[in-house]
Parts: sequence; C-alpha cells; structure tokens
Amino acid sequence: MIDQATIDRILDAAQIVDVVSDFVTLRKRGVNYVGLCPFHNEKTPSFSVSPSKGVCKCFSCGKGGNAVHFIMEHEQLSYYEALKWLAKKYNIEIKERELTKEEKQSQGLRESLFLVNQFAAEYFQDILYNNVDGQSIGMTYFRQRGFRDDIIKKFQLGYCTEQKDALAKTAVQKGYKQELLLKTGLCYMKDDGRTIRDRFWGRVIFPVHNITGKVVAFGGRVLSAATKNVQMKYVNSPESEIYHKSKELYGIYFAKQSIIRQDRCFLVEGYTDVISMHQSGIENVVASSGTALTSDQIRLIHRFTSNITVLYDGDGAGIKASIRG
Ligand SMILES: [Zn+2]
Repeated sequence: MIDQATIDRILDAAQIVDVVSDFVTLRKRGVNYVGLCPFHNEKTPSFSVSPSKGVCKCFSCGKGGNAVHFIMEHEQLSYYEALKWLAKKYNIEIKERELTKEEKQSQGLRESLFLVNQFAAEYFQDILYNNVDGQSIGMTYFRQRGFRDDIIKKFQLGYCTEQKDALAKTAVQKGYKQELLLKTGLCYMKDDGRTIRDRFWGRVIFPVHNITGKVVAFGGRVLSAATKNVQMKYVNSPESEIYHKSKELYGIYFAKQSIIRQDRCFLVEGYTDVISMHQSGIENVVASSGTALTSDQIRLIHRFTSNITVLYDGDGAGIKASIRG
C-alpha cells in the first residue's frame, strides 16, 4: 500500500489538464477546457476539464472525476494501480507500507508472475542482441522480414536459444522460483517430473503486453532446422493467472492512443502484421493472434472506438474468419 504522504504528493503533481491532455486534445473555453470524450464516440466535444476544481466530466455520458478517476477509467486500472501510474508519470518515488499477510498473498502471486515475465522479456532481448545465435538466427530473421531497429526495440522482440533449458537455468540462478516459471508457462515439466524445459527454445520471441504495458505472455516462432520439424510454427504461452487469451489483443498497449486519435482500430491476424503496420506509421492496429475474435476483445477495442476495420488474409480461411468476427 502507498502511504498517505505519497498519495498527497501524487495528487498535487497530477494536474487534471496535464493528465487528460495525454489522451484528449483540449481547447481552452473560458476558464475550462473542452475536448472529445475519450469514453464514448462523439463528433462534437462534450468533455469538459476544470483546472480550478481539478476534475473532468463528460456532459454526454457522465464519465469523469479527478485525475486518478480519469486514469482508472481510461486505463482500466484499480485505484491503487492508477496512483502508481501517475507516480511513474511524475517521477514520484512510492513509499509503500508493509502489506498484511493476506494482502501479500493475493497480490503476491500476480506480481511475481509479472516479474518473471519481465525478467524473461529482458533475457530474450539480451540473447537477441548479445548472443551469437541471437544475432545470426534471430536478428537475421527480423532483418529478412524488413523490421527496423527501432521497431524491434519498441516491441521488445527477442530470441530463445536452442539450448532447451537456458532460460530456466538463468532464471533459477537469479533467484526466480521454478514454480513461477511453470505457472507463467515460460517453462514446462517433462513427463519424468524432474526435467524442466523452456517452452520457446529455438524461437524468435514476441512478448504480449496488456493494456498497461505489462508482459502477460509470449509468442514464439520457429526458425532454424533444429526446430523445423517441431509441429507448430507458432507457440504461445498457455493461460495463466495473468493471461487470458480471449481477453487480450496483441499490440493494444502500443495502439490505444492512436485508436482514440483516429477513432478507428484495424484488426489484423498476427504479430508480424501489427509490427509491419507500425513500421509504416499506422499505429491503431491490434491482432487477436491465433484465436477467433471474442466479445471481450471487442469490448476492449470499444473502450477507445466504435469503428473496427478487419484486415485478414484474402484466402478462404481469412474471409471466413472476418465474417465470423
Ligand atoms: Zn462521454
């Protein structure tokens, strides 16, 4: 939990106009500011921001509140998470009080899973840039796809070597529990019940970020001869405490601001489609990556726009999937 003094500092720093301006283009009107409401689709501005009162409100759909409420609604965060989001924006160091045992247990597992995923994402990136195979196999693949350096960095792409337990070993050495590696699905236990294996060995890695930018899962694509006869081209993280496939959209974190600005979301099939479009300057794009479109995913898009354009492959399967979607 965050102590009260820190909360007060965050509330002081988070000026409402500044916070809202990150997501809404505001124009001064008298003592207030107005803009298009980010919470519903409209053509004439009914979203009003009052710097003197420190609040915002939509006169059409009624949503709004102070800076914390705005971030909670916009980023779909809890009160606590919204405070942390604002603290980060304003470089305020958070002094957290010791959690009770019960609080620790409920928060503990999810946070630990996020930490392990964060570690793994950094590990895969490090391999891509600094390991011989990472360079000669992983980086070569991305370059062949025509991905630029800045785009490879932005999407935190990585590589996992063909050594089948390299990640597991490194993680355990660094103090991450084997149990967490299994729960995130980064690793799995072989049938013998003793041997732990990296799920993504020999694959290039696409981390999947949730709406707040945390890594919830990974997708891995096979590349080299050693893994070619492994059945599937793509392998994805299994469902976990922090990853529900049907509720996530690949690219949503990098797309949300552009979706609001353009009032449109392009829906494509895969990771590389999202990345290619970003590289071409089109950022309001997400992928449902390998699953049929779900109502949760549509609801997620609907928080930012009511307009979706489906851009699936032009083959029979793609057309069928578009219509079903
Ligand atoms: Zn509204």
